[in-house]
Amino acid sequence: MSTRLDIDLDALRKNLAEIAARVAPARHMLVVKDDAYGHGLTTIAQTGWDAGVRWFGSFDVAGGRIVRDALGPDARIFAWMIGSREDARLGVKADLDLGVGDTALLEDAAAVGAQRVHLKIDTGLHRNGIRPEEWPVAVRRAAELERSGAIRVVGVWSHIAEASDAEDDAARAVFDWAVAEAQAAGLAPRMRHLAASAASFARSEFRYDMVRVGAFAYGIHPAGGPDAAALGIRPIATLAAPVTAAEEEFVRIGIGMLDGIPSTLAGRVHVGTPGGPRRLVRIDAAESVVAAWPGAAVGDEVAVYGPGRCGELTATDLAESIDTIGEEIALRVSQAVPRSYLRETAR
Ligand SMILES: *Cc1c(COP(=O)(O)O)cnc(C)c1O
Repeated sequence: MSTRLDIDLDALRKNLAEIAARVAPARHMLVVKDDAYGHGLTTIAQTGWDAGVRWFGSFDVAGGRIVRDALGPDARIFAWMIGSREDARLGVKADLDLGVGDTALLEDAAAVGAQRVHLKIDTGLHRNGIRPEEWPVAVRRAAELERSGAIRVVGVWSHIAEASDAEDDAARAVFDWAVAEAQAAGLAPRMRHLAASAASFARSEFRYDMVRVGAFAYGIHPAGGPDAAALGIRPIATLAAPVTAAEEEFVRIGIGMLDGIPSTLAGRVHVGTPGGPRRLVRIDAAESVVAAWPGAAVGDEVAVYGPGRCGELTATDLAESIDTIGEEIALRVSQAVPRSYLRETAR
C-alpha cells in the first residue's frame, strides 16, 4: 500500500457513455488538457478511443502530438493554443485540427497550409478569440485564403463562462451571428462548438455539432452545482494514502503538501478512513495528520477524496471548502504520486 491516485477506467467509460447519450446527436470532444486533468493523457485518450470517442481536445500542439502518437491517424485532435507559426507547422504535420483565435495566427495557418482550421469568435470571455468588430473582415480573409487552397475552415467555435444563463445566452447570440457571417463570406464550417461540461448537459441549444467536455468525463461536478449522481456521472479517481504512524488520538498519513494537497484544507474537511469520516487536522510537507478511529493501524488506507472503499468526499467537495473548483484539486495532485489504473469491466 502506498500513496497513489487510483483511476477507475470503467467509471470513465460509464461517464463517456452517459455524455454520448446526453449530447447526441452532437458529438463529444473529450478534453484531455493538463494531462487529462491529472489522470494521465495517453491512458485516458486510449480508453476514450476504445469507448468510441473520436474527437480529443488537447489544448496545445505538444499534447496533441502525444495523442496522435497514441491513437494513430483516425483520431481528430483539436489544439487551440497555438504559440507561433512553427507551432502551427508542427500541428499540421501531426494532422491536428487547429483553433485559430486571432488574425495573425490565421496568416500563420495559411503559411503552413492548415486544412483543418476552426475559427474562434470571442463571445465575451475576452481570453482569446477574434473580436466581433474584427470578425467580418477575418472571415472574408479566411474565405479568400480558402479559395486559394492555403487553408480550409472546418469549424467555428467559442468558449463560454457557464456561470449565468443570461451571459451564456448573450454569448450564444454572438456565436450564431458569427456563424452566419462566416457562411455569408463563403465559408462552410461543419463543426460548430460552444459548450463545455455544464452547458452541454443543462442546455440542449448549446450543443450544436459538438461539445467539448472534460470535467464531467472525469466525474468532476461543478462547485456549487448539482452533484455527480444528479448529473448521472461518477468520480473516477481516488486519492489514497497509507497510515504511517498511529497513536491514540491522531494518525499520520503519507501524503502532504508536496503531493499536491492544498494546505488550506487543514481543519476544513474530513477524509475517508476505515472508521468512517475523520477530520484532516494538519497538512505538512510530506505527511498529514488525521483524527484517529478505533483500531487505527499502520498500513490502513485513507482516501483523501474519491469513491474509495472508505471515503465518499469528491474533489469538488474538498474544493468547495476552500472556494475553488474540483479541477483545481485534481490538477494539483503531483506527478510524483503514481497513477494506478483499474481496468476491469463490470457488467
Ligand atoms: C477546459 C476547456 C473545456 C472543457 O471544460 P470542462 O468544463 O472541463 O468540460 C472546453 N473548452 C475549452 C476551450 C477549454 O479550455
